[in-house]
Amino acid sequence: MTRGFFNVPKAVNEPVKNYAPNSPETEELLATYKEMFNSNIDVPMHINGKEIRTDNTKNITPPHDHQHVVGQYHTAEKKHVVEAISTALSARQAWSSVSWMERASIFLKAAELLAGPYRAKMNAATMIAQSKNVHQAEIDAACEMIDFFRFNVQYMTDIFKDQPASAPGIWNRVEYRPLEGFVYAITPFNFTSIAANLPAAAALMGNVVVWKPSDHQAYSAQVIVDLFKEAGLPDGVINVVYGDPVMISDTVLNSPDFSGLHFTGSTFVFKELWKKIGENIHNYKTYPRIVGETGGKDFIWAHNSANPLQVATAITRGAFEFQGQKCSAASRAYIPTSIWFEVQKHLKAQTSELKMGSPEDPSNFVNAVIHENSFDKIAKYIDAAKADDDAEVIIGGNYDKSKGYFIEPTVILAKTPTYATMTTELFGPVITIYIYDDEKIDESLALVDQSTEYALTGAIFSTDRYIVEKASKALENAAGNFYINDKPTGAVVGQQPFGGARASGTNDKAGSAQNLLRWTSVRLIKETFVTPQDYKYPFLG
Ligand code: NAD
Repeated sequence: MTRGFFNVPKAVNEPVKNYAPNSPETEELLATYKEMFNSNIDVPMHINGKEIRTDNTKNITPPHDHQHVVGQYHTAEKKHVVEAISTALSARQAWSSVSWMERASIFLKAAELLAGPYRAKMNAATMIAQSKNVHQAEIDAACEMIDFFRFNVQYMTDIFKDQPASAPGIWNRVEYRPLEGFVYAITPFNFTSIAANLPAAAALMGNVVVWKPSDHQAYSAQVIVDLFKEAGLPDGVINVVYGDPVMISDTVLNSPDFSGLHFTGSTFVFKELWKKIGENIHNYKTYPRIVGETGGKDFIWAHNSANPLQVATAITRGAFEFQGQKCSAASRAYIPTSIWFEVQKHLKAQTSELKMGSPEDPSNFVNAVIHENSFDKIAKYIDAAKADDDAEVIIGGNYDKSKGYFIEPTVILAKTPTYATMTTELFGPVITIYIYDDEKIDESLALVDQSTEYALTGAIFSTDRYIVEKASKALENAAGNFYINDKPTGAVVGQQPFGGARASGTNDKAGSAQNLLRWTSVRLIKETFVTPQDYKYPFLG
């Protein structure tokens, strides 16, 4: 029972640890990495709090050492998916009606557990199976996930406080009910924090969830499940299934109780899911909420007033951190002729210093790309660029998959502005640059705006305020997250709510009140204190 209007702790961003060489946090993390790398983890599915194992398992192998097996995960048959749905629905009654403080408390506790005893484990799992270096793991798997939990609790209470006015004699109030049914969360490999947030955001608002993580994130998904359990999440609220994404999705989307999709992944997959939802629309009990954050072809556009070193640094960090496998990674750039020589000089100097290898060696800036398919696809585009007349590989261009899926940070110069790698999302450490005539500012901005179907992130560089304003207007719809004189990556929860439009997603901004609202269905309650007894209005005389 609630006997007070409770305030939640004010959300603050989790400080990013430095992991300087020989620091206590580095020693702890590397020791945890070693231990987890050499232990054989068995990742079951989780339905109604029970661990489900099947005869169908798949190996978990680090992308930077693909012959080394660190464990296996269990995959679903259709009956497991059906069970996950019915379990979620059985848990709904209790979970949707428990007071919000209990739900808030679970996720606040998860944040504190992750800031403390789970931090090294979550980071190490992310380093091992997703090939992130220490810093990339820390800003994602620890800090961003903690921030999602803390800020979402605050946003939930902000939403609840938003109440209508009441005229004299009546009391209007709205309650933010969870959706009637269950939510389906499908998550990508590249951010452990997104994997946790997609099911957690819906669950925080009182929904029950079937969660299908990426096959390539199963190791850290297991740590998330352990974290939720220790934080006190009741059985059946979030049910985890792995395996054939088409079979799982077909089964889920056929259920009349399907009430929402919380998706992050590639554009094509999201569109296919939307299509299936449309085909099933007559079967559903409610209109499902569809939230998807998808692909990008994120840009850096520089004006000739920009500082060339700053532009080069934004390219190096924006394109090559985590091997360019951030949805926000810069993968096309437009540089004016007059500053290109200087930008190129700095870019060559910076990239020549980047070390590549296992995340176990913290001095490696670049690690491996996620899997062989991704490696082969990127290598194919690099080879084509080497052969094509309208492209030139000016930095990097080498790759090697003998031990891990390693691709050198690569810069392609495109002679035509719509060259394949200027417009296709490769999701790897490759950026393509088009040099434009200094005078053709409007034309170059039009190219940025019109060359791709995406609109996720983008950055402009200029010290001229007229140009900053002009480019901001011209690119109004070209990016959901727009950066001035900064790289287009690294959004922080509570500061830069994240999401894109056009083919990049529904732009419901992960880690914001706007996103949480999608997992609610508002009930308006009007109560009249002195109820009328005469049907006649005064105008009737
Ligand atoms: P992906 O689309 O291959 O997979 C995402 C999820 O969808 C996984 O769980 C996968 O198993 C599942 N899936 C794959 N095929 C499916 C199908 N036919 N039906 C149903 N589910 C299916 O993406 P990925 O390789 O894991 O992640 C990279 C992609 O995600 C990139 O396109 C990237 O831009 C995008 N991404 C976007 C954001 C964002 O916020 N906009 C964030 C992270 C990643």
